[in-house]
Order: sequence, then C-alpha cells, then structure tokens
Amino acid sequence: MSLNPISPSLESVEALCQSCGACCSTFRVSFYWAETTATSQGCVPVEMTEQMNLYRSCMKGTSSATPRCAALEGQIGQQVRCTIYENRPSVCREYQVFDSSGVINPRCNEARKKHGLTPL
Ligand code: SF4
Ligand code: SF4
Repeated sequence: MSLNPISPSLESVEALCQSCGACCSTFRVSFYWAETTATSQGCVPVEMTEQMNLYRSCMKGTSSATPRCAALEGQIGQQVRCTIYENRPSVCREYQVFDSSGVINPRCNEARKKHGLTPL
C-alpha cells in the first residue's frame, strides 16, 4: 500500500498498466457468460473464453495454475497490450487501480509481487 497517496491521471494509469500486466497473469478473470459473443448482446470474443458453469465464463488461460489471459500480448513488467481492449469483460473495465483517495488497489501489488515487480 502506498504511504503517499497520489492522484494519478487516466493517462498515467494507462501507461503504468501497459508496462505491467501482472493482474492479467495472476487472477482468474471470470464474468457472466452472456458478456460473450455467444449472445447477440455480448462483446467478449467467445473463442477467447472458457465456460466455467451454467452462469460463469472466464478468460481462456486464467483458470490454470499459472494464469495468463489469452488476450494478453507482450512481456509482463515490460510492455503489454490487451488485444481485446474495446471488448474486454466488465470485470476488467471495472477494476480500479487506485481508489478515490489515490491509494493503490492491494490486488495490484499482490499480482506485481507474484511476478517479481516492485510494489507501487
Ligand atoms: S496489476 Fe495493477 S498496475 Fe499492473 S496491469 Fe494490473 S491493474 Fe495495472
Ligand atoms: S481481457 Fe484484457 S484486460 Fe482483461 S485480463 Fe485479459 S488481457 Fe487483461
């Protein structure tokens, strides 16, 4: 957790994430199955997902013992890109890197630690 909360801009958060990518290779990324293109309203490419049960899907690759989202391109901690950024699932869209006080989400540092990256 940051001892000196900051107020990061959207641009600086995007730049930070583009040089990290740890969360996309740490957690299971699951969401309501109807977010996929298996339905006419869905946008997440269904071929990049796995059906977990009747109601939930996850991004392919994220439910393994060594998770890595199939949509992630690049090298963790260097340069990464979400290849389905415009169509990523709600769980990725809603993830807050910093709270309203500018304090880092502890999940970020959990993921970064797993990949040997310095905490934020
Ligand atoms: S772990 Fe945090 S800083 Fe790194 S890519 Fe994910 S959201 Fe961004
Ligand atoms: S869909 Fe994109 S943002 Fe979400 S986990 Fe995969 S690579 Fe990361």
